[in-house]
Amino acid sequence: MAKTELPERAQYVIVGGGIVGCSVAYHLAKMGHNDVVLLEQGQLSCGTTWHAAGLVGQLRSQPAMTNLIRYSTQLYADLEAETGLATGWMQCGSVTVARSEDRMTMLMRTAAAARAQGVDVDVLTPQQAQEKWPVMQVDDLKGGIWMPGDGKANPTDLTQSLAKGARMRGAKVIEGIKVTDILTKEGRVTGVETDQGRIEAEIVVNCAGQWARRLGLMCGVNVPLHSAEHMYIVTETMKGVNPDLPVLRDPDGFVYFKEETGGLVMGGFEPEAKPWGMDGIPDKFEFSLLPDDWDQFEILLENALIRVPEMETTGVRKFYNGPESFTPDNNYLLGEAPELKNFFVGAGFNSMGIASAGGAGRALAEWIVQGEPTSDLFAVDIRRFADFNNNPTWLHDRVKETLGLHYAMPWPNRELDTARPFRRSALYDRLAAKNAVFGSKMGWERANWFAPEGTAAETNYSFGRQNWHDAVAAEHKATREDVAVFDQSSFAKLLVQGRDACAELNRICAANIDVAIGGTVYTGLLNARGGYESDLTVLRLKEQEFLLITGSAQAVRDANWIEKNFSADAHVFLTDVTAAWSVLAVMGPKSRQVLQKLTKANLSNAAFPFGTVQKIDLGYATVWANRMTYVGELGWELIVPVEFTVGVYEDLKRAGQDHGIVDAGYYALDGLRLEKGFRAWSRELTPDITPLQAGLSFAVDFEKPGGFIGREALVAAKADPDHLNKRIIQLVVKDEEVQLWGGEAVLCDGVEIGEVRSAGYGHTLGAAVALCEINAAEPVKAEFIKSHSFEVDVAGKRCAATAHLRTPYDPKSERVRAEG
Ligand SMILES: Cc1cc2nc3c(=O)[nH]c(=O)nc-3n(C[C@H](O)[C@H](O)[C@H](O)COP(=O)(O)OP(=O)(O)OC[C@H]3O[C@@H](n4cnc5c(N)ncnc54)[C@H](O)[C@@H]3O)c2cc1C
Repeated sequence: MAKTELPERAQYVIVGGGIVGCSVAYHLAKMGHNDVVLLEQGQLSCGTTWHAAGLVGQLRSQPAMTNLIRYSTQLYADLEAETGLATGWMQCGSVTVARSEDRMTMLMRTAAAARAQGVDVDVLTPQQAQEKWPVMQVDDLKGGIWMPGDGKANPTDLTQSLAKGARMRGAKVIEGIKVTDILTKEGRVTGVETDQGRIEAEIVVNCAGQWARRLGLMCGVNVPLHSAEHMYIVTETMKGVNPDLPVLRDPDGFVYFKEETGGLVMGGFEPEAKPWGMDGIPDKFEFSLLPDDWDQFEILLENALIRVPEMETTGVRKFYNGPESFTPDNNYLLGEAPELKNFFVGAGFNSMGIASAGGAGRALAEWIVQGEPTSDLFAVDIRRFADFNNNPTWLHDRVKETLGLHYAMPWPNRELDTARPFRRSALYDRLAAKNAVFGSKMGWERANWFAPEGTAAETNYSFGRQNWHDAVAAEHKATREDVAVFDQSSFAKLLVQGRDACAELNRICAANIDVAIGGTVYTGLLNARGGYESDLTVLRLKEQEFLLITGSAQAVRDANWIEKNFSADAHVFLTDVTAAWSVLAVMGPKSRQVLQKLTKANLSNAAFPFGTVQKIDLGYATVWANRMTYVGELGWELIVPVEFTVGVYEDLKRAGQDHGIVDAGYYALDGLRLEKGFRAWSRELTPDITPLQAGLSFAVDFEKPGGFIGREALVAAKADPDHLNKRIIQLVVKDEEVQLWGGEAVLCDGVEIGEVRSAGYGHTLGAAVALCEINAAEPVKAEFIKSHSFEVDVAGKRCAATAHLRTPYDPKSERVRAEG
């Protein structure tokens, strides 16, 4: 092949010619941005792409990821007509079967959720499943689902076809060239160094697959992924196996099957994976495989023989063992790196890169061109991780578990077990001694609930009520009636200081944060579309010093959003001070009495009103006390220097003894906030939801001087009669035995209208409560709510619910209590 000359500069340089890099190049070029150079150290697809099995399954744990794959399926179907290069795409459909009742429940839940997202899916009996896939035996099965839109493709052909589509529009694809360094200047990328010279670039995109972590480290960017061995076999031809055979997944046996040249491709996702590449990924790995490992493969083979006994007498044509990169949560990594401007990442595809590449490539190209994602992509946003997630020892231990997550039972509230404990609050040991059952968020160990004395401190997962229901009911009741202390130290805390801090923040926040010193303001941070990038509280500590308290998972993303939106010449500085401060939330009608025993500060309503923060003495400690509540009761969030946390906690427990103080965890917190109708970011509040749709207009100041980001969009939305067709509503299920977990389909007059975004049990209301996003054909206002009937689809069973724009939870008496 004639060598393409290396240009001196290009607007976009993409590193990596696997399916993802080629898809990004294709989509950039298709959007008219054709000054693109793609650099591949070997040949196109020679990394991981070439040996993929080529399954394209639409259903993923996150709706955003499912949506991107739905676009992939359309693209793969149309690409050949556009480029003249075949892709091997075939919409053969897929069957997924269940060996257990729990798996069948999960499939029924999935089917309902998929339908709500517009994905075709049918529920099958074992016999119907066998009709679609006659080669399997079904005696042990409970049933299955059929997804006609799923398919398979040839990964190498697909990559070549995407590359051709990019070239046809002017992009340059250069093979046999290695990027050896990333060039930067003043916090932004300026180009790449290669083994054949330098290319200056405005934007560099890291699509280097399992090499992406190392490429990131060249310029101080964290790309937390680790390779693991991933395997499948191809059998000799088998009777009844023809090209039309759908893909079959048997997740209880960890295996999948697909037809290939008259035989079966059989691979899977074993529960304990085998990490690879601990000493680094070799440079020269073109079209390479790892040695066969039949021991590691044994669990898959045993299970495959149960499903397809005929395999016993069928020869194996080839064993494929290739390394693939996995991330700490099994979702891929997309977006602009928070550490380096104009450096984008599309990597860590967790064995779904073929299925995802079309949608992910388009999403990344849009993100690059528009400077922000065009829809909610938090599930795959690289900013959900921080530098500590890039620790190689931690990654090694974590990916042992993440590979298996594809087929592991996605229990409600399922926590990952490996590489923990990771980040611990100052109270970790004390809470553990009290039987805390910990979950993990942004690496933090957080008490989810406290097991009663004498019982095992562990969660028994199920789709019905789980073993913590009664214990959490007690924590909930104590918070509503007495007082509880929650360790919320994992809250992210961002300190914003400087001469321009107030003006800059006020432009970034939708509410007016230019309040008196000691004021606390709840606000959204909106994008130009008026959607939520975050919601947080702003504490004005000094004239030009603000402490922002935001969700645990949002530390990196929020800091990045805020800094990105600071004016270039502004005198303003943001520091993440999360690790310096603990947060103990003391909540409940008796919180004042408990705290008053420990401080000389006046905690009366007049001296310490709602929405204010004061530095107070508390025992021997000096803390910030913030009069706020996420549970809808009187309470203070105490922001405590880490070294005083244990002392404050001990004092609180001593002082609260006579008032029935209890430790409470995140499950109680969630039930309390849901009952109160408080929205949470990334659940109800997303970049695609405005404050008007969320019912949070009270936290927007349209009149403040200078306006704010998103104001124009909100003003236009107010005038748009259809804007409120999409809304967040609260549902309270009528049957008090029903348990909701989130993700369920919501029906209005029997027709799917939306989904449950988050759900819990409202122990005061005595029923499951849910916050849901619905999309109606008319504005969702009080009249709409009154004149329609609502149900939730719980694994195929329709459960009646009452709908509310405002919570039915006793708002008046709460106000009395909160104002105390
Ligand atoms: C056994 C197996 C089965 C699989 N089955 C499926 C499946 O059925 N469905 C599915 O969706 N996914 C599947 N996958 C996953 C899929 O193969 C990957 O997710 C996907 O190929 C990742 O594509 P990529 O472009 O990110 O990485 P790669 O294909 O690895 O591309 C990255 C490229 O970057 C190049 N590169 C790296 N560093 C440099 C540098 N410094 N300079 C220049 N170039 C560089 C590499 O040479 C490489 O070609 C499977 C994976 C395995 C291992």
